[in-house]
Amino acid sequence: MTRQNYKPATTLVQGGITRSHYGETAEALFLTSGFVYDDAEQAEATFAGTAEHYQYSRFGNPTVTMLEQRLAQVEGAEACRATATGMAAVHAALMCHLQAGDRVVASRALFGSCHWIVSTLLPRFGITTEFVDGSDLAQWRNSLSRPTRLVLLESPSNPMLEIVDLRAVGELAHDAGAMVVVDNVFATPLLQRPLELGADVVVYSCTKHIDGQGRVLGGAVLSQRKWVDEVLQPYIRNTGPSISPFNAWLLLKGLETLALRLGAACQSAEAIAAFLAEKPEVRRVWYPTRDNHPQAALARQQMRAGGTIVTFEVADKATAFRVMNALHLIAISNNLGDSKSLVTHPATTTHMRIGPEERARLGITDGVIRLSVGLEDLEDLKQDLAEALEAAKPTSSPGYL
Ligand SMILES: *Cc1c(COP(=O)(O)O)cnc(C)c1O
Repeated sequence: MTRQNYKPATTLVQGGITRSHYGETAEALFLTSGFVYDDAEQAEATFAGTAEHYQYSRFGNPTVTMLEQRLAQVEGAEACRATATGMAAVHAALMCHLQAGDRVVASRALFGSCHWIVSTLLPRFGITTEFVDGSDLAQWRNSLSRPTRLVLLESPSNPMLEIVDLRAVGELAHDAGAMVVVDNVFATPLLQRPLELGADVVVYSCTKHIDGQGRVLGGAVLSQRKWVDEVLQPYIRNTGPSISPFNAWLLLKGLETLALRLGAACQSAEAIAAFLAEKPEVRRVWYPTRDNHPQAALARQQMRAGGTIVTFEVADKATAFRVMNALHLIAISNNLGDSKSLVTHPATTTHMRIGPEERARLGITDGVIRLSVGLEDLEDLKQDLAEALEAAKPTSSPGYL
């Protein structure tokens, strides 16, 4: 069997390992900032690029390389660079490629900081940016009828789980001359493979499902070797968004269990979506592969499962707060993709800054709650949600009113 034939679950455990002369079983943690040379000639050759040798952990580190190789193998990408955070990955992928005068088209439903980079940072450097509704192909077609340098999108999106047709947008973008960058955080490399659907670059916040245990921040950029080596690497090397070898080591261990964790959480999420849909207190449930999702067919076509996030709507902000405050097991947090189940009220936290108009455009009402489903027992999670919905009924909490 060649490496390419291994299934993802195998690659997640074995991919990218380089053992030291001690023959350690687990990936070694090279907690070192620099490296020494045998002699001055080796240092000279390394800097000249004629000898292969680590120089400095801002440029590369053996533990980080193992993470990059494992991620590249599971994604089916030629090359990967890991970064300190997901935002460092998005920022590096955009800034290394763009220059003044360029035009960027992005889907409106982006992670808050990605939205800020496109709407606020890039225009400062003479880059024109335009947002479209990601699920509306007519808007993409219209915006991409003019020459464009880069397209940035997220699918499924946060928190409304909107799906972008990756293949169709990829074709329109390429016709416009644009490179397509997909933020694949919600899908993970196991549920959606954007490079196979025409994307040029995939970015991750490894902080989410890849660590998946709420421990460290991390990010990754994956693409063709030529672009990574010639465009991305000089940017990363000289601007320094590098990941700590320690965090890379934890992410390697996170990847080992990703398939198991994700499989379990997706199953629970799907069951919880169905469970919530039956509750009279719940007005609407969003889950990508559920029949009532407006793009369920597309989601099933480009994703292997619906993911670990379920979004649902109750009557209003007061009800949403009562539900969240009545949960015992599920904690309130703005994070997601953790083994611990977490709820977020997007309108007052993650999506507070974009303002009421933009929230309305994205469908983020004050009653919307985002649930990141973790690894607790499904029955316990359902019971926690049922009790919280019950407790949130206005009549049953007179003290609150
Ligand atoms: C969390 C997240 C990011 C940013 O990642 P950090 O690791 O927090 O910097 C970017 N995009 C999406 C979709 C995310 O969920």
